[in-house]
Amino acid sequence: MSSEPIYEGKSKRVYVKTPDELVMEFKDEVTAGDGAYRAVAPGKGVLCAATSAYFFRYLEGRGIRTHFLDYDGVRRLTVRRLRMIPLEVIVRNYAYGSLLKRMPLFRELQPLNPPLVEFHYKDDSLHDPLVLTEDVVRAGLASRELLDAVVEASLRVNEELSKLLASKGLALVDAKFEFGLLGGELLLADEISGDTVRVIDESGRHLDKEVFRRSRSVEALLAAYRELARRLGLEVAYG
Ligand code: ADP
Repeated sequence: MSSEPIYEGKSKRVYVKTPDELVMEFKDEVTAGDGAYRAVAPGKGVLCAATSAYFFRYLEGRGIRTHFLDYDGVRRLTVRRLRMIPLEVIVRNYAYGSLLKRMPLFRELQPLNPPLVEFHYKDDSLHDPLVLTEDVVRAGLASRELLDAVVEASLRVNEELSKLLASKGLALVDAKFEFGLLGGELLLADEISGDTVRVIDESGRHLDKEVFRRSRSVEALLAAYRELARRLGLEVAYG
């Protein structure tokens, strides 16, 4: 494995393992407000890595192709190296967050059935702006056919995750997915954790980063992520 990361983002360091494989190391840092606020949450990286590995394994078991290869049981996932599509795909089952600002006619947690799918162009300096399918196609970022496949895959992943979480008494409010290409094949990539999904329990308590966005409390964030792991039946190494 390369000793220096080839990339360091807000929540992960990425190392080259082999020409075809990467190692994603989950950091303990947490950011909110578009990176304007950051803190260290000891154990967060382990919790997000464990949760991601669990979800990726589950999805693979349900016949969904992902980049996941291996988990070290602590904070590192080995994944297939993909040509990433620079889009964040948001699937919304209930109205929340930026959707309520953009379209005030929605009520908070109003069910969205079928789920609403939106694309954001992945660029931190531009604050990951919402983009239209037409924008993406005309800009030459992805073909219409590829975007159709991305939407279909996102809805399938969303459905599997929603069902799984429902079986644990939890509701998937919304989720952010990233995809990449390997040869001609579309694979689900990046992470699936409290950082990238909104999940609420029976009482409406958030088991995701929303807790930190509101409270700015590292302890509250860790308690929420631990509870999510516990509800999934995960044994987390430490955290
Ligand atoms: P950011 O702050 O840029 O969102 P992260 O801290 O999450 O990033 O770092 C992970 C980076 O690795 C992201 O840019 C993500 O798109 C990229 N990535 C995730 N999975 C893969 C993969 N399988 N192959 C290549 N790049 C990936």
